[in-house]
Amino acid sequence: MGDAPRGDDEMEAVDERKELEADAAAAEPGVAPAITDYGLQDTDWATDAWRGLLDELIDLGLVTWKEVVVLALGQMNPPQVGTAVASSGGYKANFDSSSGESLMSAVMRWFYSEAGTCADCGSRLDLQADHVDPREQYDDPHEADRLDNLTLRCRRCNVIRRPSHVFGGLTHLSAEAALMWILLVIRPRTLVDFVRLCRLYGMTMADVRMQESWAMAVWLSRDERVAYQIDDNTGEYTIELWDDGAIMRRAGSDAPSEAQVLYAGVPGDATVSFVTRDDAGVHRLHEVPVAQLPFSMYDLGARPPSALAVIPTPPDRANAVMTPLRSLPPRGLELVGYTVRGPDQTARVEYTDERGRQRVFDGPASRGGRILRPAPASAVAVITV
Ligand SMILES: [Zn+2]
Repeated sequence: MGDAPRGDDEMEAVDERKELEADAAAAEPGVAPAITDYGLQDTDWATDAWRGLLDELIDLGLVTWKEVVVLALGQMNPPQVGTAVASSGGYKANFDSSSGESLMSAVMRWFYSEAGTCADCGSRLDLQADHVDPREQYDDPHEADRLDNLTLRCRRCNVIRRPSHVFGGLTHLSAEAALMWILLVIRPRTLVDFVRLCRLYGMTMADVRMQESWAMAVWLSRDERVAYQIDDNTGEYTIELWDDGAIMRRAGSDAPSEAQVLYAGVPGDATVSFVTRDDAGVHRLHEVPVAQLPFSMYDLGARPPSALAVIPTPPDRANAVMTPLRSLPPRGLELVGYTVRGPDQTARVEYTDERGRQRVFDGPASRGGRILRPAPASAVAVITV
């Protein structure tokens, strides 16, 4: 076939495909506004909600009252600053010993004079000795090591002051607590949904941290009392279109009123293929495997479930830039046409191009999409072949 003569139209089609591939590579598909209001519904939680969660963890046998109290008491124990500060070279060098008082004695005098709470958040847990004015503010960093420049901060408030943890303040639970809060309260059904929830919460750690935390879901899925539900994509799903354009899935068929049912009984190895048109009028064919679609059954508090339809890209830590969460297409885009195809099928787009010729474009396409060039008024059909 490779040596067969090709007509002009075929040559043109090949060139167009090359051009389209280049366009698609350069494109930024489905860019959403930066999500700046971080946090899920735990920001609204009152004491009763926290008490209820603890009761549930204890009722399920995940932790005991004794373990909770042991943890709290251990975290209340004052930090061991005496010897740590008194043996530090910087404090030794800056200490005025002319009064005859030892550095250790002066350290303990400072320590007892403190309120015993975090200077920033007021917590009594996990306190650390920290500089009032950080080392970076001094020409000679050793100048920071003076007792009159010391205060107590909890570990979290201490850590998020460091330039390396510039994004830490986006979340309000500690990272390790937030991972378990999301897992046990929202109960994501897939690892990819868990990562999406963590990103939506404002967490900036590497995906591997979330993969490790997912072990708790795997363990609890084998615990009869907890019965954590992990979806292995072997079921049948209802595919829903939400009013902000998000395509999501649901196990079972009881679709909510906010969503339109596109398909029911779709197997987990199928792919949703669809054409979008963006604000600039550019058409793209996208394909998203059903297994990558977020579930729509989670309670995200004030956010609609469709907020979860994001591409969970980690932030640019090297440049300290918070990467805006990108929407999973077609969320935020105009949906022109769609179909569902099985693993052995192809999505075909039929349209009329700008020169009035009938065009047929067969997938596959990436999630980010392949650019198509229909004439402005052309009907665009997406079918499964
Ligand atoms: Zn604090």
